[in-house]
Amino acid sequence: MQPSAALARISPSPTLAVTARVMELQRAGVDVIGLGAGEPDFDTPEHIKEAGIRAIRDGRTKYTQVDGTPELKAAVVAKFARDNGLAYDTTQVSVNVGGKHTLFNAIVATVGAGDEVVIPAPYWVSYPDVVQFAGGTPVIAPAGPEQDYKLSPEALEAAITPRTKWVILNSPSNPTGAAYTVAELRALGDVLVRHPHVWVFADDMYEHIVYDDFRFATIAQVCPELYERTLTVNGCSKAYSMTGWRIGFAGGPAWLVKAMAKLQSQSTSNPCSIAQAAAVAALTGPQDFLKERATAFQSRRDLVVSMLNQTNGISCPRPEGAFYVYPSIAPLIGKSTPSGKLIDSDEAFVGYLLDDARVAAVQGAAFGLSPAMRISYATSEELLRTACERIQTACAALR
Ligand code: PLP
Repeated sequence: MQPSAALARISPSPTLAVTARVMELQRAGVDVIGLGAGEPDFDTPEHIKEAGIRAIRDGRTKYTQVDGTPELKAAVVAKFARDNGLAYDTTQVSVNVGGKHTLFNAIVATVGAGDEVVIPAPYWVSYPDVVQFAGGTPVIAPAGPEQDYKLSPEALEAAITPRTKWVILNSPSNPTGAAYTVAELRALGDVLVRHPHVWVFADDMYEHIVYDDFRFATIAQVCPELYERTLTVNGCSKAYSMTGWRIGFAGGPAWLVKAMAKLQSQSTSNPCSIAQAAAVAALTGPQDFLKERATAFQSRRDLVVSMLNQTNGISCPRPEGAFYVYPSIAPLIGKSTPSGKLIDSDEAFVGYLLDDARVAAVQGAAFGLSPAMRISYATSEELLRTACERIQTACAALR
């Protein structure tokens, strides 16, 4: 038996690999600080946990509708109306096993050989792999520092061909934290209006983690002309600290939602019934703590950006949202470690940080833009301060 051709087109998630490595080192008693994982350190709020416990006690432990219970779909409809001014009905809502599953369903349901998907780089690691798994071709569009890590209308225009199926927009972004303003979304929308065959996958997973009065917006809201060809994607993982519960969801045209449900009916079936009950509590319960958590993330961002910018060879932009920074490490390439190893790539650099400084970050190469690294600051200020001090010492020791 050999793995399939589809499997051969993808790689294991590099971010999950770093997380697994950190857990392994920590289990072995090594004092390593993990800044690789994309998950908030906050606990799932009590009222959400209670809703899950109640669901178990009430016997809501059986199969549900394939792509979401009516209660959760209604809660998602209300969420899109409340937070995004978007009107969907329940036939336009899909609930999946995490946002990654939403991506997988949407892409595998619509993309095949010869189809192209425009992905701005740096990108979340799963986008190109899922497109490749489906048999499609990722078309990587530049969205580097010279464009404030955002896709420009010109770069979008240049990437579109008659074979383009989707463009993926992720705001705030994993891995850079960059977020699109209303005007920037409108400018991208103006390009897309001229290309009616192109659909938009709007990944808003970090919607609630924005700073300094940044006003979050999503493209179907800013450009109503694109509503009919946009899938607006979100989930409970990051905002409600529910990464382990596995609930993602999307709003879009009913035919696409139906196509995604068809695929889901032959793969996972419904998302966990208990997690769905908890997600109803998350979406319909108190929302005030989202702002409080964003404020805590903002102080951590300020700390990390400031300390990294005082580090030899590292320059770190100040992002608008999410809980990542994506500093450039260009001046460090070509240097050597105290033990004489050449730092010839960002992968070598994060390997050095893990081995010598006991700090885990993820190499920029995983996200399609080097030389850089992604640091997740979803951990305590105390640990972040120690981690940044270790990075400062490690960088100062390079020759
Ligand atoms: N979208 C982005 C940009 C992400 O960073 C992630 C998780 O890292 C997801 C979607 C998927 O989240 P999950 O599958 O955990 O709900």
